[in-house]
Amino acid sequence: MIKTDLLIIGAGPAGCSAAVYAARSGIKTIIAGGAMPGGQLLQTNDIENYAGFINPVPGFELMDNMHKQCKRLGVEIVSDEIVKLEGSQTPFTLTAAGGTQYQATAVIIAAGASARWLGVEGEERLKGHGVSACATCDGFFFKGKEVVVVGGGNTAFEDALFLSQICPKVTLVHRREGFRADAVTVEKVRNTPNITMQLNCVPEQVLGDTAVTGVILRNVKTQEKIEIPCAGIFVAVGAVPQTEWLKGSGVALEDNGLVKVDARQHTNIDGVFAAGDCTESEFRQAVVAAGSGAKAGIVASAFVNLHR
Ligand code: NAP
Repeated sequence: MIKTDLLIIGAGPAGCSAAVYAARSGIKTIIAGGAMPGGQLLQTNDIENYAGFINPVPGFELMDNMHKQCKRLGVEIVSDEIVKLEGSQTPFTLTAAGGTQYQATAVIIAAGASARWLGVEGEERLKGHGVSACATCDGFFFKGKEVVVVGGGNTAFEDALFLSQICPKVTLVHRREGFRADAVTVEKVRNTPNITMQLNCVPEQVLGDTAVTGVILRNVKTQEKIEIPCAGIFVAVGAVPQTEWLKGSGVALEDNGLVKVDARQHTNIDGVFAAGDCTESEFRQAVVAAGSGAKAGIVASAFVNLHR
Protein backbone atom coordinates (compact mmCIF):
# COMPACT_ATOMS: atom_id res chain seq x y z
CA MET A 1 0.00 0.00 0.00
CA ILE A 2 1.50 3.34 -1.11
CA LYS A 3 0.58 6.17 1.27
CA THR A 4 0.26 9.78 0.16
CA ASP A 5 -1.39 12.99 1.32
CA LEU A 6 -3.09 13.58 -2.02
CA LEU A 7 -3.76 11.31 -4.96
CA ILE A 8 -4.80 13.05 -8.18
CA ILE A 9 -6.41 10.95 -10.90
CA GLY A 10 -5.58 12.43 -14.29
CA ALA A 11 -2.50 14.20 -15.63
CA GLY A 12 -4.18 16.75 -17.89
CA PRO A 13 -4.36 20.51 -17.21
CA ALA A 14 -6.75 20.07 -14.24
CA GLY A 15 -4.68 17.38 -12.53
CA CYS A 16 -1.36 19.15 -13.13
CA SER A 17 -2.64 22.52 -11.99
CA ALA A 18 -4.06 20.95 -8.80
CA ALA A 19 -0.72 19.24 -8.20
CA VAL A 20 1.22 22.48 -8.58
CA TYR A 21 -0.85 24.14 -5.85
CA ALA A 22 -0.73 21.11 -3.55
CA ALA A 23 3.00 20.56 -3.92
CA ARG A 24 3.71 24.22 -3.24
CA SER A 25 1.65 23.87 -0.02
CA GLY A 26 3.99 21.10 1.15
CA ILE A 27 1.49 18.29 0.43
CA LYS A 28 2.92 14.93 -0.72
CA THR A 29 1.23 14.53 -4.10
CA ILE A 30 1.03 11.65 -6.55
CA ILE A 31 -0.66 11.94 -9.95
CA ALA A 32 -1.95 8.69 -11.43
CA GLY A 33 -2.07 9.61 -15.10
CA GLY A 34 -2.71 6.27 -16.83
CA ALA A 35 -0.66 4.83 -19.69
CA MET A 36 -0.67 8.07 -21.74
CA PRO A 37 -0.59 10.87 -19.14
CA GLY A 38 -1.81 14.14 -20.57
CA GLY A 39 -5.39 13.77 -21.67
CA GLN A 40 -7.02 15.35 -24.68
CA LEU A 41 -4.41 18.10 -25.11
CA LEU A 42 -2.03 15.45 -26.41
CA GLN A 43 -4.38 15.15 -29.39
CA THR A 44 -4.58 18.87 -30.05
CA ASN A 45 -2.36 20.49 -32.63
CA ASP A 46 -1.89 24.13 -31.91
CA ILE A 47 -3.44 25.90 -28.94
CA GLU A 48 -3.96 29.57 -29.45
CA ASN A 49 -6.23 30.40 -26.52
CA TYR A 50 -4.21 29.38 -23.47
CA ALA A 51 -3.24 32.68 -21.87
CA GLY A 52 0.44 33.43 -21.66
CA PHE A 53 1.59 32.06 -25.00
CA ILE A 54 2.22 34.68 -27.66
CA ASN A 55 2.28 32.10 -30.45
CA PRO A 56 0.24 28.90 -30.85
CA VAL A 57 1.70 26.10 -28.74
CA PRO A 58 1.39 22.40 -29.69
CA GLY A 59 -0.79 20.47 -27.19
CA PHE A 60 1.90 17.90 -26.39
CA GLU A 61 4.40 20.69 -25.65
CA LEU A 62 2.02 22.42 -23.26
CA MET A 63 1.37 19.10 -21.48
CA ASP A 64 5.06 18.23 -21.40
CA ASN A 65 5.79 21.59 -19.77
CA MET A 66 3.07 20.99 -17.17
CA HIS A 67 4.48 17.55 -16.33
CA LYS A 68 8.00 18.94 -16.03
CA GLN A 69 6.73 21.75 -13.82
CA CYS A 70 4.99 19.21 -11.54
CA LYS A 71 8.11 17.05 -11.32
CA ARG A 72 10.30 20.05 -10.52
CA LEU A 73 8.00 20.76 -7.58
CA GLY A 74 8.34 17.19 -6.30
CA VAL A 75 5.11 15.69 -7.65
CA GLU A 76 5.37 12.02 -8.59
CA ILE A 77 3.58 11.12 -11.85
CA VAL A 78 2.83 7.39 -12.17
CA SER A 79 1.28 5.60 -15.14
CA ASP A 80 -1.22 3.65 -13.02
CA GLU A 81 -4.83 3.71 -14.18
CA ILE A 82 -7.05 3.95 -11.12
CA VAL A 83 -10.08 1.66 -11.43
CA LYS A 84 -11.55 1.78 -7.92
CA LEU A 85 -12.08 4.37 -5.20
CA GLU A 86 -13.19 3.15 -1.77
CA GLY A 87 -14.06 4.92 1.46
CA SER A 88 -16.78 7.24 2.64
CA GLN A 89 -14.32 9.25 4.73
CA THR A 90 -10.60 9.94 4.84
CA PRO A 91 -8.32 8.03 4.33
CA PHE A 92 -9.38 6.65 0.95
CA THR A 93 -8.18 3.48 -0.75
CA LEU A 94 -7.57 3.53 -4.50
CA THR A 95 -6.77 0.52 -6.64
CA ALA A 96 -4.98 0.61 -9.98
CA ALA A 97 -5.61 -1.72 -12.93
CA GLY A 98 -2.43 -3.67 -12.15
CA GLY A 99 -3.49 -4.16 -8.51
CA THR A 100 -1.30 -1.45 -6.90
CA GLN A 101 -3.12 0.15 -3.98
CA TYR A 102 -2.84 3.68 -2.66
CA GLN A 103 -4.02 5.20 0.59
CA ALA A 104 -4.65 8.93 0.33
CA THR A 105 -5.83 11.51 2.84
CA ALA A 106 -7.52 13.41 -0.01
CA VAL A 107 -8.38 12.62 -3.62
CA ILE A 108 -8.87 14.84 -6.66
CA ILE A 109 -10.70 13.30 -9.60
CA ALA A 110 -9.43 14.99 -12.77
CA ALA A 111 -10.02 12.06 -15.11
CA GLY A 112 -11.09 14.17 -18.11
CA ALA A 113 -13.24 13.03 -21.00
CA SER A 114 -12.82 10.81 -24.03
CA ALA A 115 -14.16 10.82 -27.59
CA ARG A 116 -17.86 10.28 -28.22
CA TRP A 117 -18.63 7.99 -31.17
CA LEU A 118 -21.50 8.11 -33.65
CA GLY A 119 -22.79 4.59 -33.11
CA VAL A 120 -23.54 4.03 -36.81
CA GLU A 121 -23.12 0.84 -38.84
CA GLY A 122 -19.52 0.13 -39.81
CA GLU A 123 -17.98 2.56 -37.30
CA GLU A 124 -16.92 0.06 -34.64
CA ARG A 125 -15.77 -2.55 -37.18
CA LEU A 126 -13.58 -0.06 -39.06
CA LYS A 127 -12.01 1.70 -36.06
CA GLY A 128 -8.28 1.74 -36.75
CA HIS A 129 -8.97 0.96 -40.43
CA GLY A 130 -10.06 4.43 -41.46
CA VAL A 131 -12.33 5.41 -38.58
CA SER A 132 -10.55 7.62 -36.05
CA ALA A 133 -11.30 10.18 -33.35
CA CYS A 134 -7.87 11.80 -33.51
CA ALA A 135 -6.74 13.67 -36.61
CA THR A 136 -3.53 14.72 -34.91
CA CYS A 137 -2.62 11.09 -34.16
CA ASP A 138 -3.85 9.37 -37.33
CA GLY A 139 -4.07 12.10 -39.98
CA PHE A 140 -0.65 11.25 -41.38
CA PHE A 141 -1.91 7.84 -42.58
CA PHE A 142 -4.33 9.64 -44.90
CA LYS A 143 -1.80 11.82 -46.64
CA GLY A 144 -2.90 12.28 -50.26
CA LYS A 145 -6.32 10.70 -49.64
CA GLU A 146 -9.84 12.09 -49.35
CA VAL A 147 -11.28 12.26 -45.84
CA VAL A 148 -14.46 13.18 -43.99
CA VAL A 149 -14.67 14.98 -40.64
CA VAL A 150 -17.90 14.84 -38.60
CA GLY A 151 -18.91 17.55 -36.11
CA GLY A 152 -19.57 21.26 -35.74
CA GLY A 153 -17.36 22.14 -32.77
CA ASN A 154 -13.82 23.43 -32.47
CA THR A 155 -12.37 19.94 -32.65
CA ALA A 156 -14.04 19.15 -36.00
CA PHE A 157 -13.08 22.50 -37.51
CA GLU A 158 -9.49 22.32 -36.31
CA ASP A 159 -9.25 18.71 -37.51
CA ALA A 160 -10.55 19.77 -40.94
CA LEU A 161 -7.93 22.54 -41.15
CA PHE A 162 -5.16 20.19 -40.09
CA LEU A 163 -6.21 17.50 -42.58
CA SER A 164 -6.60 20.03 -45.42
CA GLN A 165 -2.82 20.49 -45.32
CA ILE A 166 -2.15 16.84 -46.17
CA CYS A 167 -5.31 15.64 -47.92
CA PRO A 168 -6.52 16.79 -51.35
CA LYS A 169 -10.17 16.98 -50.25
CA VAL A 170 -11.78 17.24 -46.82
CA THR A 171 -15.55 17.05 -46.38
CA LEU A 172 -16.85 18.51 -43.13
CA VAL A 173 -20.19 16.96 -42.19
CA HIS A 174 -22.43 18.64 -39.63
CA ARG A 175 -26.00 17.92 -38.60
CA ARG A 176 -27.21 21.54 -38.75
CA GLU A 177 -26.22 24.94 -40.19
CA GLY A 178 -25.00 26.60 -36.98
CA PHE A 179 -21.63 25.79 -35.46
CA ARG A 180 -20.22 25.59 -31.96
CA ALA A 181 -16.73 26.28 -33.30
CA ASP A 182 -15.25 29.75 -32.76
CA ALA A 183 -16.06 32.26 -35.52
CA VAL A 184 -12.40 32.76 -36.37
CA THR A 185 -11.91 29.01 -36.95
CA VAL A 186 -15.11 28.77 -39.00
CA GLU A 187 -13.84 31.60 -41.17
CA LYS A 188 -10.51 29.84 -41.71
CA VAL A 189 -12.36 26.70 -42.84
CA ARG A 190 -14.61 28.70 -45.18
CA ASN A 191 -11.48 30.22 -46.74
CA THR A 192 -9.80 26.86 -47.30
CA PRO A 193 -10.52 25.79 -50.89
CA ASN A 194 -10.13 22.02 -50.38
CA ILE A 195 -12.63 21.86 -47.50
CA THR A 196 -16.26 21.30 -48.53
CA MET A 197 -19.15 21.40 -46.07
CA GLN A 198 -22.10 19.03 -46.06
CA LEU A 199 -24.56 20.65 -43.69
CA ASN A 200 -27.81 19.28 -42.25
CA CYS A 201 -26.31 15.85 -42.78
CA VAL A 202 -25.55 12.91 -40.49
CA PRO A 203 -23.54 9.79 -41.27
CA GLU A 204 -25.72 6.70 -41.51
CA GLN A 205 -23.18 4.07 -42.45
CA VAL A 206 -19.43 3.77 -42.80
CA LEU A 207 -18.60 1.76 -45.91
CA GLY A 208 -15.77 -0.69 -46.47
CA ASP A 209 -14.85 -4.34 -45.89
CA THR A 210 -11.36 -4.20 -44.43
CA ALA A 211 -10.80 -0.43 -44.73
CA VAL A 212 -13.02 2.62 -45.11
CA THR A 213 -14.07 3.33 -48.69
CA GLY A 214 -16.79 5.88 -48.05
CA VAL A 215 -19.63 7.07 -45.90
CA ILE A 216 -23.36 7.32 -46.53
CA LEU A 217 -24.88 10.59 -45.33
CA ARG A 218 -28.54 11.38 -44.76
CA ASN A 219 -29.79 14.90 -45.16
CA VAL A 220 -31.92 15.45 -42.04
CA LYS A 221 -34.18 17.93 -43.85
CA THR A 222 -34.82 16.13 -47.14
CA GLN A 223 -34.00 12.54 -46.00
CA GLU A 224 -31.96 12.29 -49.22
CA LYS A 225 -28.98 9.95 -48.97
CA ILE A 226 -25.62 10.59 -50.57
CA GLU A 227 -22.41 8.61 -50.66
CA ILE A 228 -19.08 10.36 -50.12
CA PRO A 229 -16.08 8.28 -51.17
CA CYS A 230 -13.24 8.62 -48.65
CA ALA A 231 -10.40 6.67 -47.07
CA GLY A 232 -10.82 8.10 -43.60
CA ILE A 233 -13.58 9.37 -41.38
CA PHE A 234 -12.67 11.49 -38.36
CA VAL A 235 -15.36 11.60 -35.70
CA ALA A 236 -15.29 14.83 -33.67
CA VAL A 237 -18.72 14.93 -32.03
CA GLY A 238 -17.73 15.84 -28.49
CA ALA A 239 -16.62 13.95 -25.46
CA VAL A 240 -17.95 11.83 -22.63
CA PRO A 241 -16.60 12.09 -19.05
CA GLN A 242 -14.28 9.28 -18.00
CA THR A 243 -16.18 8.41 -14.86
CA GLU A 244 -17.56 4.89 -15.50
CA TRP A 245 -15.06 3.53 -12.98
CA LEU A 246 -16.63 5.68 -10.24
CA LYS A 247 -19.97 3.88 -10.39
CA GLY A 248 -20.42 2.12 -7.05
CA SER A 249 -17.82 4.33 -5.33
CA GLY A 250 -20.39 6.54 -3.63
CA VAL A 251 -19.21 9.63 -5.57
CA ALA A 252 -22.34 11.32 -6.94
CA LEU A 253 -22.54 11.65 -10.73
CA GLU A 254 -24.93 13.58 -12.96
CA ASP A 255 -27.10 11.61 -15.40
CA ASN A 256 -24.60 12.39 -18.18
CA GLY A 257 -21.72 10.98 -16.13
CA LEU A 258 -20.19 14.27 -14.95
CA VAL A 259 -18.96 14.32 -11.35
CA LYS A 260 -21.21 16.56 -9.25
CA VAL A 261 -19.18 19.33 -7.64
CA ASP A 262 -19.95 22.55 -5.80
CA ALA A 263 -18.29 25.89 -6.54
CA ARG A 264 -15.29 24.84 -4.41
CA GLN A 265 -14.80 21.55 -6.32
CA HIS A 266 -16.13 19.39 -3.42
CA THR A 267 -17.91 16.19 -4.38
CA ASN A 268 -20.54 14.70 -2.06
CA ILE A 269 -17.75 12.91 -0.13
CA ASP A 270 -15.69 15.01 2.28
CA GLY A 271 -12.07 14.80 1.14
CA VAL A 272 -12.85 13.83 -2.46
CA PHE A 273 -12.67 16.72 -4.92
CA ALA A 274 -13.06 16.86 -8.70
CA ALA A 275 -12.02 19.26 -11.47
CA GLY A 276 -11.65 19.66 -15.21
CA ASP A 277 -13.57 18.08 -18.08
CA CYS A 278 -15.03 15.26 -15.93
CA THR A 279 -17.02 17.99 -14.13
CA GLU A 280 -17.66 20.43 -16.99
CA SER A 281 -20.43 20.33 -19.57
CA GLU A 282 -20.16 23.80 -21.05
CA PHE A 283 -16.66 25.30 -20.86
CA ARG A 284 -14.44 22.38 -21.84
CA GLN A 285 -11.30 24.44 -22.32
CA ALA A 286 -7.78 23.66 -21.16
CA VAL A 287 -7.54 26.98 -19.35
CA VAL A 288 -10.85 26.38 -17.54
CA ALA A 289 -9.70 22.88 -16.54
CA ALA A 290 -6.48 24.36 -15.19
CA GLY A 291 -8.49 26.95 -13.26
CA SER A 292 -10.81 24.44 -11.62
CA GLY A 293 -7.78 22.22 -10.95
CA ALA A 294 -6.11 25.10 -9.11
CA LYS A 295 -9.21 25.51 -6.92
CA ALA A 296 -9.27 21.77 -6.19
CA GLY A 297 -5.56 21.84 -5.33
CA ILE A 298 -6.07 24.67 -2.86
CA VAL A 299 -9.10 23.17 -1.08
CA ALA A 300 -7.61 19.65 -1.04
CA SER A 301 -4.41 21.02 0.53
CA ALA A 302 -6.45 22.73 3.26
CA PHE A 303 -8.31 19.44 3.85
CA VAL A 304 -5.04 17.50 4.14
CA ASN A 305 -3.60 20.03 6.57
CA LEU A 306 -6.64 19.54 8.81
CA HIS A 307 -6.62 15.73 8.66
CA ARG A 308 -3.06 14.44 8.60
P1 NAP B 1 -18.48 20.09 -28.96
O1 NAP B 1 -18.14 21.52 -28.87
O2 NAP B 1 -19.36 19.47 -27.92
O3 NAP B 1 -19.08 19.85 -30.39
C1 NAP B 1 -19.53 18.59 -30.76
C2 NAP B 1 -20.19 18.72 -32.12
O4 NAP B 1 -20.60 17.42 -32.53
C3 NAP B 1 -21.41 19.62 -32.11
O5 NAP B 1 -21.37 20.45 -33.21
C4 NAP B 1 -22.57 18.64 -32.16
O6 NAP B 1 -23.64 19.12 -32.90
C5 NAP B 1 -21.97 17.47 -32.91
N1 NAP B 1 -22.56 16.20 -32.52
C6 NAP B 1 -22.75 15.71 -31.26
N2 NAP B 1 -23.28 14.48 -31.31
C7 NAP B 1 -23.46 14.20 -32.61
C8 NAP B 1 -24.00 13.08 -33.30
N3 NAP B 1 -24.43 12.00 -32.64
N4 NAP B 1 -24.05 13.12 -34.64
C9 NAP B 1 -23.58 14.20 -35.31
N5 NAP B 1 -23.07 15.29 -34.72
C10 NAP B 1 -23.02 15.28 -33.38
O7 NAP B 1 -17.15 19.14 -28.94
P2 NAP B 1 -15.65 19.46 -29.40
O8 NAP B 1 -15.60 20.12 -30.72
O9 NAP B 1 -14.90 18.21 -29.19
O10 NAP B 1 -15.18 20.50 -28.32
C11 NAP B 1 -15.24 20.15 -26.93
C12 NAP B 1 -14.82 21.34 -26.11
O11 NAP B 1 -13.42 21.53 -26.30
C13 NAP B 1 -15.51 22.62 -26.53
O12 NAP B 1 -15.74 23.39 -25.39
C14 NAP B 1 -14.52 23.27 -27.45
O13 NAP B 1 -14.63 24.66 -27.51
C15 NAP B 1 -13.22 22.82 -26.80
N6 NAP B 1 -12.13 22.84 -27.79
C16 NAP B 1 -11.44 23.99 -27.90
C17 NAP B 1 -10.43 24.08 -28.81
C18 NAP B 1 -9.72 25.37 -28.89
O14 NAP B 1 -10.19 26.32 -28.28
N7 NAP B 1 -8.61 25.47 -29.62
C19 NAP B 1 -10.11 22.99 -29.64
C20 NAP B 1 -10.85 21.83 -29.52
C21 NAP B 1 -11.87 21.78 -28.59
P3 NAP B 1 -24.59 20.30 -32.33
O15 NAP B 1 -23.78 21.54 -32.42
O16 NAP B 1 -25.74 20.27 -33.24
O17 NAP B 1 -24.93 19.90 -30.93
